[in-house]
Amino acid sequence: MSKEILILGAGYGGLLSALSARANLTVDEANITVVNRVGTHQIITELHRLAAGNVSEKAVALPLEKLLKGKQINITVGEVQSIDVEGKKVALTNGSSYRYDALVLALGSETNYFGIPGLQENSLILKSVSDANRIFAHVKDRIKAYAQSKNKADATFVIGGGGLTGVELVGELADELPAICRQNGVDFADISLYLVEAMPTILPMFSPDLIQRAVTSLEKRGVEFLTSLPITEVKGQTVTLKDGRTIDTNTLVWTGGVQGNTLVANCGIEVNRGRATVNEALQSTSHPDVYLAGDCAVVFGPEGRPYPPTAQLAWQMGELIGANIAAAFKGMKQDGFQPVFSGTLASLGRKDGIGAVGGTGIELRGLPASLMKKASNARYLTHINGLFTLAY
Ligand code: NAD
Repeated sequence: MSKEILILGAGYGGLLSALSARANLTVDEANITVVNRVGTHQIITELHRLAAGNVSEKAVALPLEKLLKGKQINITVGEVQSIDVEGKKVALTNGSSYRYDALVLALGSETNYFGIPGLQENSLILKSVSDANRIFAHVKDRIKAYAQSKNKADATFVIGGGGLTGVELVGELADELPAICRQNGVDFADISLYLVEAMPTILPMFSPDLIQRAVTSLEKRGVEFLTSLPITEVKGQTVTLKDGRTIDTNTLVWTGGVQGNTLVANCGIEVNRGRATVNEALQSTSHPDVYLAGDCAVVFGPEGRPYPPTAQLAWQMGELIGANIAAAFKGMKQDGFQPVFSGTLASLGRKDGIGAVGGTGIELRGLPASLMKKASNARYLTHINGLFTLAY
């Protein structure tokens, strides 16, 4: 009898789980259903470009219908309400419910506000296509408003958090703001673009040399770095830093950290600090019919440290999960997760970037890093057949 595979989330982990499960199981062997909040697979590694108006929405939001055409995978657009891992059922907010033989939880991460007073209420985030659209519309509105009001808070842009998300966003804004200012008759010299980071340095995953390269490149384009200065409070338009100084701004984008998914953390499976724990085969350590892909899981490396929640890991986890579910259904041995790290690339705007190629010690600066980032995106799109959908 055909088994039911239910996949929650159509990000990197969920989509690749579905494609891999279908590649390993016939329609007679398994019915596969993917549930996702929106009808698109979002290329979230490129959202910073959309947030600055540097790429079109259709380049980063690929319709699932087109992506999965002919693959015999059911798509349900809906919001998960509850996950019953004992009864093996999932309920959606629209009242429908789904039973499963194997469940894949691939619901991603959530923004961590670390309990900082006023932060959530007074900031924008960059985790989805709609967030990116909101940021771009907001930035344009503030510049337009400044052209009339000359209120400095409208000309002040603050990015909170100097990890990859914050730095990639500030790089795009540094490139795009001058043109937006010109269009609205505003002098770019009136704009303040801050990146506020709690730690002594931005992008600690890179060598000091690459970090300096990033800082110099961005400072040349008008970014002001405030490091060793955590944001401690936000009240309306006033952002307070640890040393007591304040910045008045009508635009704070918070990229200061991520945490596990609340639905996953509260569904009754075993978790570690809000992220689900998994065995080698990426099954929940408490519920083996539940598999975990991407940021909602925590995978520990050989030194006992958790791997960072990245797209490349989510993609690889999804591929293994699809194959492992097929193996489990057929009574065969499941494989262990052996991640391959191709490296880390950070774009610093349209034409600049830095990168460290995994395990080689090779570092990239400038155009080679930008090109490598583009190539890595193209490789992913080709892999999921996304170039085909973009051609529509
Ligand atoms: P992050 O957790 O990596 O970085 C958040 C930064 O915010 C940290 O540097 C932290 O010190 C800082 N911060 C925390 N509290 C603060 C405060 N109160 N005030 C100011 N700064 C504060 O988050 P991220 O950048 O969103 O990345 C999340 C994950 O996604 C990471 O694993 C990252 O590797 C991955 N990612 C990868 C890419 C890429 O490969 N190009 C791009 C984006 C994200």
